[in-house]
Amino acid sequence: DQPDPTLRPEKLPEDDRALRPQGLGEFIGQAEARANLRVFIESARMRGQAMDHALFHGPPGLGKTTLAQIMARELGVNFRMTSGPVLAKAGDLAAILTNLEARDVLFIDEIHRLNPVVEEVLYPAMEDFELDLVIGEGPAARTVRIELQPFTLVGATTRLGLLTTPLRDRFGIPIRLQFYTVEELHQIVTRGARLLGVPAEDDGAREIARRARGTPRIAGRLLRRVVDFALVEGDGRLTREIADSALTRLGVDDLGLDGADRRYLRLIAENYGGGPVGVETMSAALSESRDALEEVIEPYLLQQGLIQRTPRGRMLAQKAWTHMGLVAPKAPGQ
Ligand code: ADP
Repeated sequence: DQPDPTLRPEKLPEDDRALRPQGLGEFIGQAEARANLRVFIESARMRGQAMDHALFHGPPGLGKTTLAQIMARELGVNFRMTSGPVLAKAGDLAAILTNLEARDVLFIDEIHRLNPVVEEVLYPAMEDFELDLVIGEGPAARTVRIELQPFTLVGATTRLGLLTTPLRDRFGIPIRLQFYTVEELHQIVTRGARLLGVPAEDDGAREIARRARGTPRIAGRLLRRVVDFALVEGDGRLTREIADSALTRLGVDDLGLDGADRRYLRLIAENYGGGPVGVETMSAALSESRDALEEVIEPYLLQQGLIQRTPRGRMLAQKAWTHMGLVAPKAPGQ
């Protein structure tokens, strides 16, 4: 079962296997998460038991799915993948759980979007590797208990705050993924260019890394586009000049912000005098879902110090005014 692609616009088919690291050693960045996972994987292997359940949280495109696949490979077990919105009924989850082999990794993407009825089924499955299923209806209904093979659930979410406490508490290994540094993205782009067979100059790879919004998925996508320009308008080499002109033409600015980011900042600047403005108002004015604002756009703007979140809403930071070439209005009374 594949999640509805319209719900995950950034998961395009082009976001393919070619650039996915296959082992923990090939995975660049997230040093702390990697070091911890290495220990848990090794220990589970030594004990011959299923690894404890893990919860990956952080913005899209930082490597949650990739890490889960690597875990399964390093544990030497099958990888099964589904997502919260796809599991409509308890039976959907039961079908998947009863088909797992011992110690398999089950990855549930967007686990914060699980139907509560399905979530109830998950609790005893996670805790005791048991399923309680209700068969039949009305007075004839009865509960049957099904024993499951021990398995490892890996949940991924972009919104930790939307997870219920009982679900959160059942993950022994919570891991927060961070935005990548330019240095790490530089390594990722360089590796990607090598895998694509494109000669890349150091400055060229760095330019893409600098403008990739701290996100490997975006770095991979920009790399492919820059390669297109290098082939058609250059001599096939990835140079800084080609990267700069291609990224600028793609609407990716010097800080790595795209059109949606800039529209967001401009709206606060031009319509709300720099804020504060509530997220619902922003969502309506930009015709973007609140989720898209909170999961995709805001985390990077916050991390870059371009906006601040206050109890009364979002506000522009000085850096955003400077970036847009605008002057911040004086606060009343100043
Ligand atoms: P998420 O599940 O967090 O949305 P994915 O695991 O799907 O992110 O990663 C998105 C893309 O970025 C994948 O194509 C993967 O190849 C690439 N990627 C993610 N993390 C890394 C990394 N550490 N090194 C190299 N490529 C990575």
